[in-house]
Amino acid sequence: MAARWMVEKIFSTKVFGGNASSASGTAETEVQPLVKRDSPQVDGGVWVYIEQNEGRVAEVSWELLGEGAKIAKKLDSRLEAVVIGYDAERIAYDALSYGASKVYLIDDPLMKHYRTWPYAKAFSDLVVSKRPDVLLIGATRNGRDLAGNVATNTHTGLTADCTSLDVEPGTGLMLQIRPTFGGSQLAVIMTPRHKPQMSSVRPGVFPRPPRREGKGEIVRVQVSIREEDIPTKILDYELVERSSIIEESDVVVSGGMGMSSVKNFQLIKDLATSLGGAVGASRKAVESGYADKENQVGQTGKTVRPKVYIAMGISGAIQHLVGMQGSETVFALNIDPDAPIFNSCNYGVIGDALKVMPIMIDEIDKRRSKKEGN
Ligand SMILES: Cc1cc2nc3c(=O)[nH]c(=O)nc-3n(C[C@H](O)[C@H](O)[C@H](O)COP(=O)(O)OP(=O)(O)OC[C@H]3O[C@@H](n4cnc5c(N)ncnc54)[C@H](O)[C@@H]3O)c2cc1C
Repeated sequence: MAARWMVEKIFSTKVFGGNASSASGTAETEVQPLVKRDSPQVDGGVWVYIEQNEGRVAEVSWELLGEGAKIAKKLDSRLEAVVIGYDAERIAYDALSYGASKVYLIDDPLMKHYRTWPYAKAFSDLVVSKRPDVLLIGATRNGRDLAGNVATNTHTGLTADCTSLDVEPGTGLMLQIRPTFGGSQLAVIMTPRHKPQMSSVRPGVFPRPPRREGKGEIVRVQVSIREEDIPTKILDYELVERSSIIEESDVVVSGGMGMSSVKNFQLIKDLATSLGGAVGASRKAVESGYADKENQVGQTGKTVRPKVYIAMGISGAIQHLVGMQGSETVFALNIDPDAPIFNSCNYGVIGDALKVMPIMIDEIDKRRSKKEGN
């Protein structure tokens, strides 16, 4: 079931009267849009934010360029990208080759590492001056943070964590679709009066578009921010291994209730380590405390598209399958020959995970040591 909502009024704010003792001194006002939808100065365009860290681009950015191209086509508009970083020109060229016709490049030493304030300020200033119609940002940790700040600065609505996007014929409004009420309903949300129509989108729900010969324009944008104006300073920096980020890992090893205890779930972690992959889990496994919520795959968890997805002791409920059905190859092991997961895998093994997995881990480790000549 899909419900239709609007996000135009989310910026109603409480304004408190000067007299703290006066409860009646409160009033509710609606913050006016900085850029109205019907404003004649609207430049339009579908923008995608290309998130990068140390030159490594979050995969969701390329996925959004693929989906952004479809939205731009439906709106008879153009696809443009925004890159923020330092020494990031190569990424701007990559954005052209994934389909953007223009890339705004904010390339400055102050932007070397993500910090909320300077990124949000530089991005918001650009949005206000260029007035895109649509702005898409990957719902990564930093992407969520940035999206909320840019939406606040530019007085527009934001639909967070979308799993699907479309355009309403006739009105040309973007339909921003996301699960709600614990995943039991899909909400279709629109931003009819404010610009840009902003969504953050879950990684992994759209495929990466093919690369082509990049054609288009790179526009360098200067920022007027000084280090002394930035309230946060980076004292130390540690890069998290890519394999442990579940949405970006080529291999995901997921465990379900079939692992039967926190202690046995260690086998999932050991197998993931042996294969250089990330740990996933079913919702029941998360609810039973075997894994963290951030490891949950499925409708109310993460969407993953690894090269190899290994499901251990997972029954294959539809809510789990929707989070991993884009995987290239699925391997499932279950003790029950009638488990539904066997209808959704490329390779299936009927067996006891607790007996099979130690043998698998041992064998993989032996082969790796042999290969490495130890
Ligand atoms: C609104 C909503 C949203 C939801 N969102 C999600 C979601 O995001 N992700 C998600 O995963 N679920 C989600 N669920 C829950 C989902 O419906 C299932 O309940 C859940 O996926 C089942 O988890 P499971 O397969 O680990 O457990 P079970 O269904 O209990 O299955 C355990 C499996 O392990 C097998 N098994 C038992 N012992 C062994 C053994 N020794 N070796 C091998 N196999 C063994 C059993 O045969 C069985 O197939 C959602 C449900 C709802 C209603």
